[in-house]
Amino acid sequence: MNRSCKYQSLDKYLTNSDIDLLRKSLLNWFKRDGRHWIPWKLKANGELADPGELLDPYPIWIAEVMLQQTKLGVVLPYWRKWMQVFPTLDALCRADEEDILMLWQGLGYYSRAKRIHQSSKLLMELIGIENSSDLTYWPIDLETWMSLPGIGRTTAGSILSSAFDLPISILDGNLKRVFSRMLASFQPPAKDRVRLWQFSGKLIQSKSPRNVNQALMDLGNSVCTFRNPKCKFCPWKGFCLAYSSSDPKMFPVQEKREPIPFHVIGIGIVLNEGKVLIDKRLNGGSLGGMWEFPGGKQHLGEDIKLTIEREVMEELAIKVDVSEHLISINHSYSHKNLRFIVHICQWIDGEPQPLASQEVRWVEPDQLCNYPFPAANSKIITALINYLKEDRLRKPD
Ligand code: SF4
Repeated sequence: MNRSCKYQSLDKYLTNSDIDLLRKSLLNWFKRDGRHWIPWKLKANGELADPGELLDPYPIWIAEVMLQQTKLGVVLPYWRKWMQVFPTLDALCRADEEDILMLWQGLGYYSRAKRIHQSSKLLMELIGIENSSDLTYWPIDLETWMSLPGIGRTTAGSILSSAFDLPISILDGNLKRVFSRMLASFQPPAKDRVRLWQFSGKLIQSKSPRNVNQALMDLGNSVCTFRNPKCKFCPWKGFCLAYSSSDPKMFPVQEKREPIPFHVIGIGIVLNEGKVLIDKRLNGGSLGGMWEFPGGKQHLGEDIKLTIEREVMEELAIKVDVSEHLISINHSYSHKNLRFIVHICQWIDGEPQPLASQEVRWVEPDQLCNYPFPAANSKIITALINYLKEDRLRKPD
């Protein structure tokens, strides 16, 4: 390995024998310290697959989409539940979208769930219902998988290498960090993408590509971590330029970020005759198809009660009396920070119209758990149920 140059083409940086050594030391480390328990990477009998042996792509595909933007520990219970409810491609194809969203509730980035549903139908067309339980009928080429909604190159590569042990490389967040440190890249990973993909592509040329990709992910997850790289335990420390620089945390170089906007959102819990009003978000937008309580963005200088009154009128064409404060919640998305200020409202006048939603419904509060809501709403629902209990206790029979 030529350690004298800070930035150059990969071939000048790492020879083929360097790559062989890296792969070998990685796989040795993986054999000893890898996560060999991930359920969708095991055969039905719980054993590890041999090189070249096929694994069922259906549970792997579901897990890989869940893992986009989400950590393994969070995904596991969702995946287990999913596999109980929709154990096969056929079951998923026939599922109702609202049931899928219910299962996805709390996992975030809900468009992923809808895309899985869309993809299930496309896959079924390709495979044919009569062949859907035969693994050999599933597509094994990158292009077909990448043509499915919500499947990028890394997700497709991960599915294909995990299920079919094919030498298809990946480049997820963990790998970008490990490779950027190995190469001491002075470019943010997005700008050094070509070299990082090349690195991944060279490593995958192995008799056990499934293990190479999993080993890379495990190394990034447990050794070369973002905050605290444990170089002492790393099989690659003899090759790593960031390690020899004595400050691995300098890498990867971060992209300059735009400041994240902050908005205050007024939410109205509209009650009438013991029922509460909810509406279903339009498909296509963010959180499309999920249910929510009406409300919207506070205008500059506007009293929050006026915000709620105005938003409820604009959204549902009804007049409400905005009364006590129920709860305030801060919630962060990747691209915005929100503060929800929630008030109890009494319906006064007007038939609710879905002016900015696909459907409006009055529901019993204890039935709210049957509707898929975005994660931030679970605290609102709990606060509402508690409020209604206390309200009942306050009022004489
Ligand atoms: S030596 Fe340290 S910085 Fe380099 S890859 Fe290993 S853990 Fe990461």
